[in-house]
Amino acid sequence: MKIGGLIKFTLIDFPGRPAAVVFTQGCNFRCRYCHNPELVYPHLFTEPVAEEEIFSFLQRRQGSLEGVVVSGGEPTLHDDLPAFMARIKALGYAVKLDTNGSRPDMIQELIDKKLVDYIAMDLKAPLDKYREITEVDTNTDILRKSMDLIRQSGLAYEFRTTYDKEVLTEADIENLKQLTDNIHYRVQECLPVAKEKATLKVLHKEI
Ligand code: SF4
Repeated sequence: MKIGGLIKFTLIDFPGRPAAVVFTQGCNFRCRYCHNPELVYPHLFTEPVAEEEIFSFLQRRQGSLEGVVVSGGEPTLHDDLPAFMARIKALGYAVKLDTNGSRPDMIQELIDKKLVDYIAMDLKAPLDKYREITEVDTNTDILRKSMDLIRQSGLAYEFRTTYDKEVLTEADIENLKQLTDNIHYRVQECLPVAKEKATLKVLHKEI
């Protein structure tokens, strides 16, 4: 796994559980509001954090932390994600996956192998406007497939949208509420640049 950073403690990223957040490097989208370009653009990547440093930290926090969020970047691009999550599960942690939904095959594998307890999938825009946000061509049938897998998994889940008012309208949000039946659906504020930079500092704290 190429890991770009770790947040050691959060009460807001994994509902109901004190958790750590692991950030993987690399993403297949190029969202215009992305908070973490250093996890997306290869020329901005920092030296990856060694997996053993992550697991050493998680071993020390057994009993105080309850969950680990695997976020990105886009974690499902990494073929060794199931093995990575299996090691986290073996330490007794619940695992949450943050994903853009672009690899349903990987999501299926994680569900089938019982390696994930909670899945949060970003819905960037109504499906016919995806390119305006992600700036890449996206097969939206694949996104629908991921949505169906998640809904049918029996796991805790959420769909969520970052509301970029320069591109999305209130009608778009209504469209997304219909797409999700407004069940387990959340709209979050688009953070200004100053907050984005604060996030990056946290990412690069020494672990
Ligand atoms: S999917 Fe997430 S990490 Fe990737 S570019 Fe979009 S906001 Fe950034």
